[in-house]
Amino acid sequence: MSKPYDLVVIGAGSGGLEAGWNAAALYKKKVAVIDVQKKHGPPFYSALGGTCVNVGCVPKKLLVTGAAYMDTIRESAGFGWELDRASVKPNWQKMIAAKDAAVGDINESYEGMFRDTEGLSFHLGWGAIEDAHTVVVRETEDPASKVLETLETEHILVATGSWPQRLGIPGDELCITSNEAFYLKEAPKRALCVGGGYISIEFAGIFNAYKPAGGEVNICYRREPILRGFDLELRKALTTQLEANGIKVLTKENPAKITANADGTRHVVFESGKEADYDVVMLAIGRVPRSQSLQLNKVGVELTKSGAVKVDAYSKTNVPNIYAIGDITDRIMLTPVAINEGSALVDTVFGGKPRTTDHTKVACAVFSIPPIGTCGMIEEDAAAKVDKVAVYESKFTPLMHNISGSTYKQFIVRAVTNHESGEVLGVHMLGDGAPEIIQSVGICMKMGAKISDFYNTIGVHPTSAEELCSMRTPAYYYVKGARVEKLESNL
Ligand code: FAD
Ligand code: NDP
Repeated sequence: MSKPYDLVVIGAGSGGLEAGWNAAALYKKKVAVIDVQKKHGPPFYSALGGTCVNVGCVPKKLLVTGAAYMDTIRESAGFGWELDRASVKPNWQKMIAAKDAAVGDINESYEGMFRDTEGLSFHLGWGAIEDAHTVVVRETEDPASKVLETLETEHILVATGSWPQRLGIPGDELCITSNEAFYLKEAPKRALCVGGGYISIEFAGIFNAYKPAGGEVNICYRREPILRGFDLELRKALTTQLEANGIKVLTKENPAKITANADGTRHVVFESGKEADYDVVMLAIGRVPRSQSLQLNKVGVELTKSGAVKVDAYSKTNVPNIYAIGDITDRIMLTPVAINEGSALVDTVFGGKPRTTDHTKVACAVFSIPPIGTCGMIEEDAAAKVDKVAVYESKFTPLMHNISGSTYKQFIVRAVTNHESGEVLGVHMLGDGAPEIIQSVGICMKMGAKISDFYNTIGVHPTSAEELCSMRTPAYYYVKGARVEKLESNL
């Protein structure tokens, strides 16, 4: 006898909602989607829409947008705007209230989606797998807590995302993570962002703009330079530009111990022995797959050492009717990736159109101030894979910054190519607009664009993006992994 549900999805985030909606709306399946909360905020932070909507991409982008006005306001003076500087100040509470309202609207729109989509239902609570065809919905994460519902299903999709990693040092509990950062009552005067990755850099920009007068934002990173895995020139240039904007980047520094001062501030002792006080210490040291409460062991679903659910290219686990997508699989932790994996899975399982997600040439951005846009391989990785690699580069100060006063805001475009075929393997950009520009570059790269296609394209003038169309002569090369400044012949 067939089960009441075709699909039960645990987790109503980017991937889970995409999969659930596609299965119900496109393939007319009976789908139940479970999540722990309908509306954003403590105690569980994520809710309908998942991390991205509630404590991730969406509120982060709003706060970064707000923070970027700091520079715009300052720079406007060069363009003839006469502002009473003394009266210009940020209001964190207003920013947070606007963010909360915007996120709340999205939560509600998802409630509407459940109301309006035939076959798609929302179930509030904590999902756990009882057997290969049964999911229970519990009141809390505790496996002993009350079972609210028992859902019998043909297929199960695990899409429970990830959670901030802790540092595990004495005083760890005195630190916040990005979850709590979105709900701070006041912008910290002195903030320490721990980690040299996306979240630390993005929040440093947010705190730097909203900090009260006299405040200071520090980033501490255990190696140098920040943003390991990104283009090296961009990493160094971003560090310079963050520092020019008042953010102190402490490299080769990591907290060893944190204590609470009598006034509620935090005293940080670094591994180097250096000590400093902060109002807020925010850990941004990566995210771990959120698989603990799912009882995956009951059905023998295999996990990696880090707790990620092991899947094949089709997002199938080792148990035939159980699948996993998004952050829980620890492939690439980005919303559009989770969404693509969700729709590919549903096409495969219900659409009779087996499809995998291509995890190469994924365009993405760091919403630092200024931001980075990047797609494809960095030169070191390309040089390890391809015999002859050419690196093209353009660095310039955009026209506007000659009068804005922000002359430190150099725009950088770098392209990495297979020198023999001309195929563009990677494009890396730093500067205003980079996240918007890189999306189109990503499409070209997916189509196999060559560097000659870039320079045979007429640019849009005057823009920063037009530099993509003027990179004709490589800055240097790699031959069989070794960097060379010139080649004997053109090839
Ligand atoms: P999630 O969106 O995390 O959804 C998982 C859902 O499962 C959650 O709603 C959770 O409540 C629910 N859940 C967990 N356990 C259970 C359970 N047992 N029962 C029921 N429900 C459960 N990505 C980008 O592409 N661009 C960005 O700019 C960006 N910015 C980010 C900023 C921050 C601060 C963070 C933290 C992340 C950011 N990301 C960004 C990453 C992005 O948010 C994630 O990659 C994406 O949300 C992953 O989607 P998912 O479906 O795998 O999981
Ligand atoms: P990241 O993986 O980007 O960065 C983690 C940072 O923490 C790295 O600098 C890492 O250093 C450091 N780190 C890791 N472990 C420790 C430790 N034990 N002690 C000290 N430092 C440590 O993680 P985030 O938390 O910033 O973000 C999580 C993920 O969310 C990102 O990887 C990304 O996929 C996604 N995200 C995407 C965004 C976007 O698209 N704009 C924005 C925010 C998040 P090391 O380099 O030495 O390993």
